[in-house]
Amino acid sequence: MADKIDIAIIGAGVIGLAVAAEIGRDDKDIFILEKNSSFGEETSSRNSEVIHAGIYYPKDTLKAVTCVEGNKLLYEICEKNNIFCQKIGKLIIATCNSEIEKLEELLQYGKENEAFGLSIISEKEIRKIEPKIKAKAALYSPSTGIIDTHELMKYFLQKAGSKGVEILYETEVVGIKKVSLGYEVRIIESGEETTFISERVINCAGLNSDLVAQMLGIDIENCGYTLKYCKGTYFQVYKPHSIKHLIYPVPSKISLGIHVVLDKTSRIRLGPDAEYIEKKINYDVDLSKKTLFYDSVKKFLPFIGEDDLSPDMAGIRPKLQGPKEDFRDFIIRDEKDKGYSGFINLIGIESPGLTASPAIAKYVQKLIE
Ligand SMILES: Cc1cc2nc3c(=O)[nH]c(=O)nc-3n(C[C@H](O)[C@H](O)[C@H](O)COP(=O)(O)OP(=O)(O)OC[C@H]3O[C@@H](n4cnc5c(N)ncnc54)[C@H](O)[C@@H]3O)c2cc1C
Repeated sequence: MADKIDIAIIGAGVIGLAVAAEIGRDDKDIFILEKNSSFGEETSSRNSEVIHAGIYYPKDTLKAVTCVEGNKLLYEICEKNNIFCQKIGKLIIATCNSEIEKLEELLQYGKENEAFGLSIISEKEIRKIEPKIKAKAALYSPSTGIIDTHELMKYFLQKAGSKGVEILYETEVVGIKKVSLGYEVRIIESGEETTFISERVINCAGLNSDLVAQMLGIDIENCGYTLKYCKGTYFQVYKPHSIKHLIYPVPSKISLGIHVVLDKTSRIRLGPDAEYIEKKINYDVDLSKKTLFYDSVKKFLPFIGEDDLSPDMAGIRPKLQGPKEDFRDFIIRDEKDKGYSGFINLIGIESPGLTASPAIAKYVQKLIE
């Protein structure tokens, strides 16, 4: 790498890769710096792989806007580039009358966000499309689907490469300093520490994105940038089944609730739950949660027994919202008002980050224009 480059993108998860694919230009020196030995080894490969419709988020927030736009863009990208995705639709189900009121609320949120084709369907209609599910009513979202995230990331990486973006693996950013020509970035590359200058920096460091902002000197505590880790565990179900849609309970304040996730092999996974943990990566699956998972789904999946569940995997949400706190939006901004022009932070990119990825990339492109 030259001593001076145009743009450094920190992190090769789905967000860093989508950004690279969008902003790449042959006449610019753009590098992605990734501490692991391959792309997408963290949150981007530990999620539900659901293309969300944009139902849950307050109107005009970045989460709402980029989710709805990302939903459309992802289906287009997948169709054009032969990436696996399926618009299988989703049911958010109510199992008692008080939950039906919650469905009406969600329908309003979704409509305000212009999420496509939402409707509330009756018990009878649910029985027609999902005979094995027990529910009193459901919010039906036809534009929710599933995607192969790895194929998507591979596509973004190839597109970025075709525009001249280079990726450096085993390259960890350990320091950043504002200098007259941009930012001095200190990296450890295969054990060796070096520095280079980048005119601009885009921080897509996922679970570390608050710490990367702190390296620059931003007071993350005062700015509300400090991330909390919220773990989500999955169990899989070994049982033949006829479920065709994603089945969700009504959401809680911090998560969408333990739901039925289907992948391209039609395997059922249950999850993720939401558990705030200390700020350390720990993907172990706590086997003692099996009964809790079973108890959460047995009222709407009566054909499943506790013995059908076995541990699957876990992911960690990089959350700005702490336990019992109110909604927090994605942070995506050029930090010029803090004296760091050309330094773009993306912090708190939890769900629906995967869905929103191509729209977030377009948003970042506008910030650097
Ligand atoms: C349990 C769970 C379920 C989810 N389900 C969905 C879903 O169904 N649909 C949806 O739309 N979204 C979902 N999400 C959210 C989605 O997975 C994330 O929004 C998205 O993957 C975030 O991507 P990212 O690139 O920001 O982060 P990451 O994938 O974590 O990538 C960040 C990268 O930065 C690198 N990095 C960090 N620090 C440094 C450093 N100092 N130097 C160099 N590299 C560094 C890391 O190694 C990593 O590769 C879910 C998330 C979780 C946890």
